Amino acid sequence: MPWNRPLIIGILVVLLAISWWRLQSDDQELRRSQLLMGTVVEIVAGGESSDKLEAAVDAAFAEMTRLDQLLSRHHQKSDVSRLSQSDTGTEVSVETAEVIALGLNVAQRSGGAFDLTLGQLKALWGFDQESPTVPGQTALSAALDGIGPAALSLQGQEVNKRSSLLQVDLGGIGKGYAVDRAIAVLKEHGVTSAAVNAGGDMYLLGPHAELAGRAERPWRIGIQHPRHQETLLETVQVSNRAVVTSGDYERVFEEDGVRYHHIFDPKSGLPARGCQSVTIIADSVALADALATAAFVLGPATGLQLLTQYPEAEGLVVAADGTLHSSPGWARYRVAP
Ligand code: ADP
Ligand code: MG
Repeated sequence: MPWNRPLIIGILVVLLAISWWRLQSDDQELRRSQLLMGTVVEIVAGGESSDKLEAAVDAAFAEMTRLDQLLSRHHQKSDVSRLSQSDTGTEVSVETAEVIALGLNVAQRSGGAFDLTLGQLKALWGFDQESPTVPGQTALSAALDGIGPAALSLQGQEVNKRSSLLQVDLGGIGKGYAVDRAIAVLKEHGVTSAAVNAGGDMYLLGPHAELAGRAERPWRIGIQHPRHQETLLETVQVSNRAVVTSGDYERVFEEDGVRYHHIFDPKSGLPARGCQSVTIIADSVALADALATAAFVLGPATGLQLLTQYPEAEGLVVAADGTLHSSPGWARYRVAP
Protein backbone atom coordinates (compact mmCIF):
# COMPACT_ATOMS: atom_id res chain seq x y z
CA MET A 1 0.00 0.00 0.00
CA PRO A 2 1.51 3.37 -0.98
CA TRP A 3 2.24 5.82 1.88
CA ASN A 4 -0.36 8.47 2.18
CA ARG A 5 1.88 11.46 2.87
CA PRO A 6 -0.76 14.02 3.83
CA LEU A 7 -2.30 11.49 6.24
CA ILE A 8 1.04 10.74 7.93
CA ILE A 9 1.89 14.43 8.22
CA GLY A 10 -1.59 15.01 9.60
CA ILE A 11 -1.12 12.32 12.26
CA LEU A 12 2.31 13.72 13.21
CA VAL A 13 0.86 17.21 13.59
CA VAL A 14 -1.92 15.88 15.83
CA LEU A 15 0.59 13.91 17.98
CA LEU A 16 2.80 16.99 18.34
CA ALA A 17 -0.20 19.10 19.28
CA ILE A 18 -1.23 16.56 21.93
CA SER A 19 2.23 16.45 23.54
CA TRP A 20 2.46 20.27 23.45
CA TRP A 21 -0.96 20.49 25.08
CA ARG A 22 0.10 17.96 27.75
CA LEU A 23 3.23 19.97 28.42
CA GLN A 24 1.14 23.11 28.78
CA SER A 25 -1.31 21.43 31.13
CA ASP A 26 1.60 19.98 33.18
CA ASP A 27 2.85 23.54 33.48
CA GLN A 28 -0.39 24.43 35.14
CA GLU A 29 0.39 22.36 38.20
CA LEU A 30 3.61 22.50 40.17
CA ARG A 31 4.30 19.95 42.91
CA ARG A 32 7.14 20.31 45.43
CA SER A 33 7.94 18.79 48.81
CA GLN A 34 10.37 19.63 51.60
CA LEU A 35 11.20 18.21 55.01
CA LEU A 36 10.01 20.87 57.45
CA MET A 37 8.63 21.01 61.00
CA GLY A 38 9.42 17.33 61.51
CA THR A 39 7.30 16.21 58.58
CA VAL A 40 7.10 16.20 54.79
CA VAL A 41 5.44 19.37 53.55
CA GLU A 42 3.95 19.16 50.08
CA ILE A 43 2.76 22.11 48.05
CA VAL A 44 0.77 21.75 44.85
CA ALA A 45 0.02 25.02 43.06
CA GLY A 46 -1.69 25.75 39.81
CA GLY A 47 -3.54 28.20 37.63
CA GLU A 48 -0.53 30.39 36.79
CA SER A 49 2.48 30.32 34.48
CA SER A 50 5.22 27.98 35.67
CA ASP A 51 7.67 30.84 36.40
CA LYS A 52 5.20 32.49 38.70
CA LEU A 53 4.34 29.20 40.39
CA GLU A 54 8.04 28.45 41.06
CA ALA A 55 8.53 31.83 42.72
CA ALA A 56 5.31 31.52 44.71
CA VAL A 57 6.10 28.02 46.01
CA ASP A 58 9.68 28.99 46.92
CA ALA A 59 8.34 31.95 48.89
CA ALA A 60 5.76 29.76 50.65
CA PHE A 61 8.44 27.28 51.76
CA ALA A 62 10.65 30.17 52.90
CA GLU A 63 7.79 31.51 55.02
CA MET A 64 7.23 28.09 56.62
CA THR A 65 10.96 27.82 57.38
CA ARG A 66 10.88 31.27 59.00
CA LEU A 67 7.91 30.24 61.16
CA ASP A 68 9.57 26.98 62.17
CA GLN A 69 12.45 29.07 63.48
CA LEU A 70 10.02 31.06 65.64
CA LEU A 71 7.78 28.25 66.86
CA SER A 72 9.94 25.15 67.23
CA ARG A 73 11.33 23.87 70.53
CA HIS A 74 14.28 22.53 68.57
CA HIS A 75 15.69 25.93 67.61
CA GLN A 76 17.67 27.42 70.49
CA LYS A 77 16.70 30.99 69.60
CA SER A 78 13.07 30.44 68.70
CA ASP A 79 10.40 32.40 70.56
CA VAL A 80 9.29 29.13 72.14
CA SER A 81 12.78 28.26 73.41
CA ARG A 82 13.36 31.79 74.75
CA LEU A 83 10.00 31.61 76.46
CA SER A 84 10.75 28.25 78.03
CA GLN A 85 14.19 29.44 79.22
CA SER A 86 12.83 32.65 80.74
CA ASP A 87 11.84 32.90 84.40
CA THR A 88 8.60 34.82 84.08
CA GLY A 89 8.04 35.24 80.36
CA THR A 90 9.23 37.31 77.43
CA GLU A 91 8.18 39.36 74.43
CA VAL A 92 7.55 37.32 71.30
CA SER A 93 6.97 38.04 67.60
CA VAL A 94 3.54 39.04 66.31
CA GLU A 95 3.20 35.59 64.71
CA THR A 96 3.99 33.65 67.88
CA ALA A 97 1.63 35.88 69.85
CA GLU A 98 -1.11 35.11 67.33
CA VAL A 99 -0.54 31.36 67.68
CA ILE A 100 -0.54 31.59 71.47
CA ALA A 101 -3.72 33.72 71.49
CA LEU A 102 -5.60 31.14 69.40
CA GLY A 103 -4.13 28.28 71.43
CA LEU A 104 -5.25 29.88 74.69
CA ASN A 105 -8.72 30.40 73.27
CA VAL A 106 -9.06 26.69 72.42
CA ALA A 107 -7.45 25.78 75.75
CA GLN A 108 -10.02 27.79 77.65
CA ARG A 109 -13.04 26.60 75.62
CA SER A 110 -11.93 22.96 75.84
CA GLY A 111 -11.59 23.15 79.61
CA GLY A 112 -7.83 22.63 79.36
CA ALA A 113 -7.95 19.54 77.10
CA PHE A 114 -5.87 21.59 74.68
CA ASP A 115 -2.83 22.80 76.56
CA LEU A 116 0.14 24.86 75.36
CA THR A 117 2.11 24.17 78.54
CA LEU A 118 2.91 20.48 77.98
CA GLY A 119 6.57 21.07 76.99
CA GLN A 120 8.07 19.21 79.94
CA LEU A 121 5.67 16.31 79.49
CA LYS A 122 6.47 16.03 75.80
CA ALA A 123 10.21 16.00 76.50
CA LEU A 124 9.69 13.37 79.20
CA TRP A 125 8.00 10.93 76.81
CA GLY A 126 10.76 11.51 74.27
CA PHE A 127 8.59 11.17 71.16
CA ASP A 128 11.13 13.31 69.30
CA GLN A 129 13.96 10.95 70.22
CA GLU A 130 15.11 7.58 68.94
CA SER A 131 13.54 5.50 71.68
CA PRO A 132 10.59 6.98 73.58
CA THR A 133 9.68 5.34 76.88
CA VAL A 134 6.76 5.33 79.33
CA PRO A 135 7.69 7.65 82.22
CA GLY A 136 7.25 6.67 85.87
CA GLN A 137 4.43 8.17 87.94
CA THR A 138 6.72 10.49 89.93
CA ALA A 139 8.24 11.98 86.78
CA LEU A 140 4.76 12.34 85.24
CA SER A 141 3.42 14.20 88.26
CA ALA A 142 6.44 16.50 88.28
CA ALA A 143 5.97 17.34 84.58
CA LEU A 144 2.29 18.18 85.18
CA ASP A 145 2.92 20.26 88.29
CA GLY A 146 1.83 23.88 87.89
CA ILE A 147 0.89 23.59 84.21
CA GLY A 148 -2.42 24.37 82.50
CA PRO A 149 -4.02 27.19 80.49
CA ALA A 150 -4.06 29.52 83.51
CA ALA A 151 -0.29 29.18 83.83
CA LEU A 152 0.26 31.17 80.63
CA SER A 153 -1.09 34.61 79.73
CA LEU A 154 -0.70 37.03 76.88
CA GLN A 155 -0.83 40.80 76.69
CA GLY A 156 -0.11 42.06 73.21
CA GLN A 157 3.22 40.41 72.40
CA GLU A 158 4.20 39.93 76.03
CA VAL A 159 3.82 36.35 77.27
CA ASN A 160 3.85 35.72 81.01
CA LYS A 161 4.33 32.34 82.63
CA ARG A 162 3.47 31.42 86.17
CA SER A 163 6.39 29.13 86.89
CA SER A 164 9.98 29.36 85.68
CA LEU A 165 10.00 25.61 84.94
CA LEU A 166 7.04 25.85 82.58
CA GLN A 167 7.85 24.86 79.00
CA VAL A 168 5.70 25.86 76.08
CA ASP A 169 4.91 23.40 73.28
CA LEU A 170 3.13 24.62 70.16
CA GLY A 171 3.30 21.18 68.48
CA GLY A 172 -0.51 20.89 68.39
CA ILE A 173 -1.08 24.17 66.51
CA GLY A 174 2.15 25.55 65.02
CA LYS A 175 2.21 23.40 61.89
CA GLY A 176 -1.35 24.46 61.11
CA TYR A 177 -0.46 28.12 61.51
CA ALA A 178 2.53 27.69 59.19
CA VAL A 179 0.25 26.16 56.51
CA ASP A 180 -2.09 29.17 56.83
CA ARG A 181 0.87 31.50 56.27
CA ALA A 182 2.08 29.46 53.29
CA ILE A 183 -1.36 29.83 51.72
CA ALA A 184 -1.34 33.59 52.40
CA VAL A 185 2.03 33.89 50.62
CA LEU A 186 0.81 31.84 47.64
CA LYS A 187 -2.21 34.14 47.36
CA GLU A 188 0.03 37.25 47.52
CA HIS A 189 1.84 35.78 44.51
CA GLY A 190 -1.39 35.50 42.57
CA VAL A 191 -1.91 31.75 43.01
CA THR A 192 -5.61 30.89 42.93
CA SER A 193 -5.45 27.11 43.23
CA ALA A 194 -3.24 25.24 45.69
CA ALA A 195 -2.99 22.45 48.22
CA VAL A 196 -0.54 22.65 51.11
CA ASN A 197 -0.16 19.49 53.19
CA ALA A 198 2.09 19.33 56.25
CA GLY A 199 1.74 15.73 57.42
CA GLY A 200 -2.06 15.76 57.60
CA ASP A 201 -2.50 19.50 58.21
CA MET A 202 -3.94 20.72 54.93
CA TYR A 203 -5.42 23.74 53.22
CA LEU A 204 -7.13 23.53 49.86
CA LEU A 205 -7.23 26.86 48.02
CA GLY A 206 -9.74 27.55 45.27
CA PRO A 207 -10.88 24.92 42.81
CA HIS A 208 -8.52 22.20 41.64
CA ALA A 209 -6.74 23.89 38.73
CA GLU A 210 -5.73 20.69 37.00
CA LEU A 211 -9.16 20.87 35.51
CA ALA A 212 -9.19 24.63 34.98
CA GLY A 213 -10.40 25.43 31.53
CA ARG A 214 -12.70 22.46 31.77
CA ALA A 215 -15.36 22.13 34.45
CA GLU A 216 -13.78 23.37 37.70
CA ARG A 217 -14.39 21.32 40.78
CA PRO A 218 -13.51 21.42 44.47
CA TRP A 219 -10.59 19.41 45.83
CA ARG A 220 -11.41 15.86 46.84
CA ILE A 221 -9.63 14.65 49.95
CA GLY A 222 -9.62 11.06 51.13
CA ILE A 223 -9.65 10.59 54.89
CA GLN A 224 -7.51 7.68 55.96
CA HIS A 225 -8.99 4.89 58.03
CA PRO A 226 -7.12 4.93 61.36
CA ARG A 227 -6.80 1.13 61.53
CA HIS A 228 -6.68 0.11 57.86
CA GLN A 229 -4.30 2.60 56.41
CA GLU A 230 -4.72 1.57 52.83
CA THR A 231 -8.49 2.12 53.11
CA LEU A 232 -10.38 5.41 53.02
CA LEU A 233 -12.86 6.20 55.72
CA GLU A 234 -14.59 8.85 53.65
CA THR A 235 -13.97 11.32 50.87
CA VAL A 236 -14.75 15.01 51.32
CA GLN A 237 -15.04 17.80 48.81
CA VAL A 238 -13.72 21.24 49.80
CA SER A 239 -12.66 24.62 48.44
CA ASN A 240 -10.95 27.31 50.54
CA ARG A 241 -10.95 25.16 53.63
CA ALA A 242 -8.55 23.56 56.08
CA VAL A 243 -8.72 19.78 56.56
CA VAL A 244 -6.73 18.46 59.51
CA THR A 245 -6.52 14.97 60.96
CA SER A 246 -5.06 13.98 64.33
CA GLY A 247 -4.67 10.25 64.79
CA ASP A 248 -3.33 7.78 67.30
CA TYR A 249 -1.35 6.08 64.51
CA GLU A 250 0.95 8.99 63.57
CA ARG A 251 3.66 8.79 66.19
CA VAL A 252 3.49 5.59 68.21
CA PHE A 253 5.59 3.11 70.05
CA GLU A 254 4.71 -0.08 71.86
CA GLU A 255 5.79 -1.18 75.33
CA ASP A 256 4.63 -4.39 77.03
CA GLY A 257 1.99 -4.83 74.35
CA VAL A 258 0.45 -1.37 74.89
CA ARG A 259 0.48 1.30 72.16
CA TYR A 260 1.44 4.82 73.19
CA HIS A 261 0.96 7.90 70.99
CA HIS A 262 1.74 11.60 71.23
CA ILE A 263 -1.60 13.29 71.98
CA PHE A 264 -1.72 13.65 75.75
CA ASP A 265 -4.55 14.04 78.18
CA PRO A 266 -3.24 16.89 80.36
CA LYS A 267 -5.16 15.47 83.34
CA SER A 268 -3.14 12.24 83.44
CA GLY A 269 -0.12 13.01 81.29
CA LEU A 270 -0.89 9.77 79.40
CA PRO A 271 -1.95 9.37 75.76
CA ALA A 272 -5.66 10.23 75.40
CA ARG A 273 -7.71 7.07 74.87
CA GLY A 274 -11.13 8.29 73.67
CA CYS A 275 -10.50 8.37 69.90
CA GLN A 276 -8.66 6.69 67.06
CA SER A 277 -8.77 9.81 64.89
CA VAL A 278 -10.39 13.22 64.54
CA THR A 279 -10.70 15.19 61.30
CA ILE A 280 -11.67 18.86 61.38
CA ILE A 281 -12.72 21.05 58.46
CA ALA A 282 -12.50 24.78 59.24
CA ASP A 283 -11.57 28.20 57.81
CA SER A 284 -8.04 28.20 59.16
CA VAL A 285 -5.55 25.37 59.54
CA ALA A 286 -4.30 26.68 62.89
CA LEU A 287 -7.82 26.47 64.32
CA ALA A 288 -8.50 23.07 62.73
CA ASP A 289 -5.16 21.78 64.08
CA ALA A 290 -5.89 22.89 67.64
CA LEU A 291 -9.49 21.65 67.51
CA ALA A 292 -8.44 18.23 66.16
CA THR A 293 -6.03 17.79 69.06
CA ALA A 294 -8.55 19.14 71.60
CA ALA A 295 -11.44 16.98 70.37
CA PHE A 296 -9.15 13.96 70.31
CA VAL A 297 -8.41 14.48 74.01
CA LEU A 298 -12.06 15.13 74.89
CA GLY A 299 -13.41 12.05 73.11
CA PRO A 300 -16.33 11.83 70.63
CA ALA A 301 -19.24 13.36 72.57
CA THR A 302 -17.48 16.23 74.34
CA GLY A 303 -15.20 16.76 71.35
CA LEU A 304 -18.15 17.36 69.00
CA GLN A 305 -19.75 19.50 71.70
CA LEU A 306 -16.66 21.72 71.65
CA LEU A 307 -17.13 22.31 67.92
CA THR A 308 -20.52 23.95 68.51
CA GLN A 309 -18.56 26.89 69.95
CA TYR A 310 -16.86 27.33 66.56
CA PRO A 311 -19.57 27.70 63.90
CA GLU A 312 -16.99 27.57 61.10
CA ALA A 313 -15.69 24.14 62.17
CA GLU A 314 -17.06 20.66 61.43
CA GLY A 315 -15.66 17.35 62.56
CA LEU A 316 -15.57 13.60 61.98
CA VAL A 317 -14.49 11.45 64.91
CA VAL A 318 -13.56 7.78 65.00
CA ALA A 319 -14.10 6.74 68.60
CA ALA A 320 -11.86 4.27 70.42
CA ASP A 321 -14.41 1.49 69.68
CA GLY A 322 -14.26 2.27 65.97
CA THR A 323 -17.69 3.96 65.73
CA LEU A 324 -18.06 7.07 63.55
CA HIS A 325 -19.44 10.37 64.86
CA SER A 326 -19.79 13.66 63.02
CA SER A 327 -21.01 17.21 63.61
CA PRO A 328 -24.33 18.19 61.98
CA GLY A 329 -22.71 20.27 59.21
CA TRP A 330 -20.22 17.60 58.22
CA ALA A 331 -22.58 16.05 55.67
CA ARG A 332 -22.26 19.00 53.29
CA TYR A 333 -18.60 18.11 52.63
CA ARG A 334 -19.12 14.36 52.29
CA VAL A 335 -18.90 12.82 48.84
CA ALA A 336 -21.39 10.01 48.45
CA PRO A 337 -19.53 6.68 48.26
P1 ADP B 1 0.37 15.90 64.45
O1 ADP B 1 1.57 16.59 65.00
O2 ADP B 1 0.59 14.46 64.15
O3 ADP B 1 -0.29 16.64 63.35
P2 ADP B 1 -1.41 16.91 66.48
O4 ADP B 1 -1.76 18.13 65.75
O5 ADP B 1 -2.53 16.22 67.18
O6 ADP B 1 -0.70 15.82 65.61
O7 ADP B 1 -0.35 17.35 67.53
C1 ADP B 1 0.27 16.51 68.42
C2 ADP B 1 1.32 17.32 69.11
O8 ADP B 1 0.65 18.32 69.90
C3 ADP B 1 2.18 16.57 70.07
O9 ADP B 1 3.35 16.08 69.45
C4 ADP B 1 2.49 17.60 71.13
O10 ADP B 1 3.56 18.43 70.68
C5 ADP B 1 1.25 18.44 71.16
N1 ADP B 1 0.23 17.99 72.12
C6 ADP B 1 0.02 16.75 72.64
N2 ADP B 1 -1.03 16.73 73.47
C7 ADP B 1 -1.52 18.00 73.48
C8 ADP B 1 -2.60 18.63 74.15
N3 ADP B 1 -3.40 17.97 74.96
N4 ADP B 1 -2.79 19.95 73.91
C9 ADP B 1 -1.99 20.64 73.08
N5 ADP B 1 -0.96 20.12 72.42
C10 ADP B 1 -0.72 18.81 72.62
MG1 MG C 1 -3.24 19.49 66.28
